[in-house]
Amino acid sequence: MSSETPKKRIAIFGSTGSIGTQALDVIRANSNDLQVEILTAQSNDELLIKQALEFLPNAVVIGDEKKYENVKNALASTDVKVFTGEESLEEVASFDTYEVMIAAIVGFAGLKPTLRAVEKGKIIALANKETLVVAGDIVMQKAIENRAPIIPVDSEHSAIFQCLVGESRNPIERIILTASGGPFFGKKPNFLVNVKRDHALQHPNWSMGAKITIDSATLMNKGLEMIEAKWLFNLEPHQIEVVIHPQSIIHSMVQFEDGSIKAQMGLPDMKLPIQYALGFPNRIKNDFPRFNFKKYPVLNFDEPDYKTFRNLGLAIEALKSGGNKPCVLNAANEVAVWAFLKNRIGFLDITAVVEKTMEAIHFIEKPTLQEYFDSDGEARNFAATLMKL
Ligand code: NAD
Ligand code: MG
Repeated sequence: MSSETPKKRIAIFGSTGSIGTQALDVIRANSNDLQVEILTAQSNDELLIKQALEFLPNAVVIGDEKKYENVKNALASTDVKVFTGEESLEEVASFDTYEVMIAAIVGFAGLKPTLRAVEKGKIIALANKETLVVAGDIVMQKAIENRAPIIPVDSEHSAIFQCLVGESRNPIERIILTASGGPFFGKKPNFLVNVKRDHALQHPNWSMGAKITIDSATLMNKGLEMIEAKWLFNLEPHQIEVVIHPQSIIHSMVQFEDGSIKAQMGLPDMKLPIQYALGFPNRIKNDFPRFNFKKYPVLNFDEPDYKTFRNLGLAIEALKSGGNKPCVLNAANEVAVWAFLKNRIGFLDITAVVEKTMEAIHFIEKPTLQEYFDSDGEARNFAATLMKL
């Protein structure tokens, strides 16, 4: 990018999280080309204030209304507009003053503001995979109608997106999503039954927010990513394969109709897919550490253990069924992971809660947006009751 072109104005939804803070690192390193327009956070008011004082955006949102006064006072000497509450997320998402939304809120909470940005035709740098898991058909349809490009930030989907550049006329035969396997690769249920939150929060290759770290340990994350891939790349379930690759060097692959496979590789660092999404179609020069083949004489590949990590099978079932099943799977999983993080249920109970909730909530083949919200609510209530929360 050249310094003569106007700066891209960026809205980071979820700026205090793992993706959000790394997105700010990328913007800080490219301040000639990128500028912060909006920052939002749910409860970490102190970090939001610090970020706002450094980047001086047009507006910030603090979700937790109890924190509003503190943020307002801390930014009183600046021109930063301060908003609070869930609805203001949608309000600022509709602002005309930015071009790119980094959708980095975790979970279902990201859906409404992201949909707003899509309706406004913004470029969406999408980290929040749950948005596509819950309502992928509606989000993608609206993206087409409003010419809103959705550029994946999730590393696997960024890899596939990068492999597809220059291939628009060539159909995909299949994609191969790589999975590290998480901290419990090779373990069996008799071990997993005793796993505690602090152990599950230790991911071997990536440092991420708590929810996705647990999802990586249960392999639900890979299941959500299969559903995310279906919508992003318009694939049938049988075209989406998962392979365990413990080193996380190959970020994913595409196989074309001639059998040729393209892979995107690099050291595991989320700043790379973030900056690719912000720079697309250009690549931004950086000084991140480079991959050295000689330090990795072996890259391993393995079959996922579907018998032990049953969440992956449940996600595939939801992927194949379609309708509101993925939405229900996601809602039950969010509540169950939350309960696990609070030490209220065991590691294997997460799967049991998701499975029972999927059986209980009635199937809707072609839900409206309202029906997705209703399915989410019903599934959350059912899962919470099941766990006696
Ligand atoms: P995180 O928990 O570190 O951060 C979440 C952000 O969302 C925070 O800024 C928080 O304030 C905000 N938030 C949380 N609940 C909210 C709510 N109810 N309303 C509004 N804002 C809320 O999460 P993360 O690891 O940065 O992940 C963010 C998203 O990116 C997730 O969907 C995750 O699956 C996806 N993702 C993350 C990574 C990663 O490396 N962290 C990689 C791939 C995809
Ligand atoms: Mg991923």
